[in-house]
Amino acid sequence: MKSASGTHWGIVGGGMLGLTLAYRLLKQGDRVTILEASDRAGGLADAWALGDVTWDRHYHVILTVDQALITMLSELGLEDEITWAKTGTDLFDGTRFHPLNGGIDFLRLPMLSLVDKVRLAATILYASRIENGSRLADTDLEEWLVKLSGRRVFDTIWRPLLRTKLGDTYKQASAKFIQSVIRRFYSARSQGVASDRFGAVKGGYATILERLVAELEAAGAEFHTNAPVSAIGCDAGGMTAVSKGKTYSFDKVIVTAPPPHAARMCKDLEPGEKARLAGTRYQGVICASALLTKPLRGGYMTYITGGDCPLTTVIDMSSVAGKQAFGGRTLAYLPMYLPSDDPLFEASDEDLKALILGGLNQLYPDISAGDIAAFRISRAPHVFPVPVRGYASMAPGIVTSVPGLYTVNSANILDATFSVNETIELADRALAQILGDTRAMPREALPRAAE
Ligand SMILES: Cc1cc2nc3c(=O)[nH]c(=O)nc-3n(C[C@H](O)[C@H](O)[C@H](O)COP(=O)(O)OP(=O)(O)OC[C@H]3O[C@@H](n4cnc5c(N)ncnc54)[C@H](O)[C@@H]3O)c2cc1C
Repeated sequence: MKSASGTHWGIVGGGMLGLTLAYRLLKQGDRVTILEASDRAGGLADAWALGDVTWDRHYHVILTVDQALITMLSELGLEDEITWAKTGTDLFDGTRFHPLNGGIDFLRLPMLSLVDKVRLAATILYASRIENGSRLADTDLEEWLVKLSGRRVFDTIWRPLLRTKLGDTYKQASAKFIQSVIRRFYSARSQGVASDRFGAVKGGYATILERLVAELEAAGAEFHTNAPVSAIGCDAGGMTAVSKGKTYSFDKVIVTAPPPHAARMCKDLEPGEKARLAGTRYQGVICASALLTKPLRGGYMTYITGGDCPLTTVIDMSSVAGKQAFGGRTLAYLPMYLPSDDPLFEASDEDLKALILGGLNQLYPDISAGDIAAFRISRAPHVFPVPVRGYASMAPGIVTSVPGLYTVNSANILDATFSVNETIELADRALAQILGDTRAMPREALPRAAE
């Protein structure tokens, strides 16, 4: 079973985390087999066809601070394929758009008094400058924002924004969540320039994934798609993974699937470990991609704070990738963030389309069915763990009680920013722990923990 070059790793999940782990392990001379449930690589970052365009299923931009990602793109020979664009941000209050591209725009916000505006701007500046916000992980989000911005700013701006991303769970969330989001997005704002700077690789994540998978396969990795793993077990001196009745044998296995899936497939974990994985509460997203023949306002992101719009934001990918990437049309993403068990995940495409386009029409009443060249809906119930206060003490571990079995996923990102850059950094942190685990492998199958 052991290859001449080293350990044979089974990696469950071919998202950016599984692919990065595979890339690193192959580089150190190990053997890797990836088992991916869907029919393609990439997970949340995968690409799909939208009419005659192939682009990311979920909106993705690169920030200039995404050093781990940019380094990986350069290793893949793709750094020169990144196009950087200056773009803008808007806020929609239920009736009107307000640009948010600098101090003057903040001063113009009609729903706030002058003092409120100054406090809002000061909160953003302060949050963006906190380098290590770990002490905020136990701080109540609402209390922190009210202390910094005042009650009126919280009720008018922060609460509606938090609700669109976290629903009512914002009440249990830590201040670390909003501080991390502000810091990440503030970093995209060029110094002294009233615009955001975002990047995208030409061709989107399809280009990145194609290159990454080609490199993995050239280095000897086996990549199996349509291979959902249902059970992971131990045999004499190694691990097994079962997919569609076929048993694969490995020296060690790393599971990168979302925690509830990991809990189900890792049968030999101790009950406490399974409970931690299964009990991690997740936010998911229903995200529509709409290829429009009409332009939007031109900025990348529009936050929605008023009205009863079901959408979290409206994203205009053409403002970053350029309309030419979409045949001269606009690629809009229309996301709704929801708890992973929200019944809306079960709604039909037809019902969701009606709901989502109704939301878009609150912002753009003149967009009609005839302006939509293509429309698709993605359902992703596991995007990020709900950033509750004290989350670090509840997060599942990476090195499990079963020697040779490891679980790594977004639940192990403790600083509350969820991006491909963080995912690559997580892969490196996790590998340090995994490779440092020198326990002997069990000689025979472990007695199964009580279900
Ligand atoms: C709407 C949205 C917008 C985003 N915007 C950005 C952005 O602008 N910039 C940015 O950098 N990041 C962004 N992200 C985040 C980024 O996509 C994720 O951080 C990253 O893709 C997570 O990768 P992952 O491999 O950890 O998880 P996943 O992508 O979830 O991968 C897990 C994989 O495991 C597979 N799997 C599950 N169960 C099994 C099983 N039983 N057997 C085998 N395989 C299994 C899944 O099919 C999946 O491929 C965004 C995400 C979303 C959803």
